[in-house]
Amino acid sequence: MNMNDILRIAIQKSGRLSEDSLKLIKECGIRFDNGGGKLKTAATNFPAEILFLRDDDIPGYVEDGVAHLGIVGENVSEESDRDVDTVHKLGFSKCRLSIGVLREQEYHGVKDLDGKSIATTYPRLLDKYLKEHNVTAQIHEISGSVEIAPSIGLADAVCDIVSSGSTLLSNGLKEVETIFRSEAVMIASKHLSPGQQELLDQLLFRIKSVQVAKNNKYILLNCPTTAVDEIIKYLPGMRSPTILPLATEGWCSLHSVINENEFWENIEKIRQAGAEGILVIPIEKMIL
Ligand code: ATP
Ligand code: ZN
Repeated sequence: MNMNDILRIAIQKSGRLSEDSLKLIKECGIRFDNGGGKLKTAATNFPAEILFLRDDDIPGYVEDGVAHLGIVGENVSEESDRDVDTVHKLGFSKCRLSIGVLREQEYHGVKDLDGKSIATTYPRLLDKYLKEHNVTAQIHEISGSVEIAPSIGLADAVCDIVSSGSTLLSNGLKEVETIFRSEAVMIASKHLSPGQQELLDQLLFRIKSVQVAKNNKYILLNCPTTAVDEIIKYLPGMRSPTILPLATEGWCSLHSVINENEFWENIEKIRQAGAEGILVIPIEKMIL
């Protein structure tokens, strides 16, 4: 690797992505000082610099190679239509881009939008959706406060980011179509040097280890030796659980990994099979 190889990573300066983006970088063991509202900071233990930008500017900076990597919502990356690689989904800032109409308006399907005007900050994604559904509507591009457009008569409908739906609701709107599902993604420049590609691979390896760890828990339990075969059926996590004898004759301690998604269902079966003293511990990193 060339000594001059460095990864410049662009993240949102302040907004819904900021906290989780910083957390992810820190969980990957990359340390840096981000005090004082700086726009740029250098990592102290990894060849990286962090740039703090408005999210809308990130895809452009990555396309131009000013930043080598960026963390943005897929919605922003897709809307920007910049020539970048989406290298990894990050699992946070999940939201959807939806069409909403006034609550009292009758709505039967997407064809009802024919001839209507729709206010949005996502003209490109909306246009694509409308074309795919053979709907001709007028797209009214505005830069913010989209959800008030119908109630002030600016447009018949909106196309905006929704997570819980409460903003739509409080503006007298109902969600009628979901046009795009989004989460935070890592985007990368298409012109990385071999050394930068190597650094990116290292970073992705760390990110995946952090993500896998979050989806799994370390489990320890005591059980009669005769129950081991039954219990390990519900612990498919690792290749093979660790089994240690206990001082009490006929009993052992069993250690394994359990998937978060199957946790409650399996823990019940494990208990019924005779397990006692069950401890479940978060895992910080998991190397596959
Ligand atoms: P900036 O000042 O950087 O331009 P912004 O106001 O455009 O910020 P935010 O509201 O901080 O952007 O949202 C950033 C991203 O977070 C969105 O593009 C979207 O991917 C995601 N997001 C938006 N709203 C929500 C939500 N309610 N829940 C989860 N994620 C969301
Ligand atoms: Zn923005």
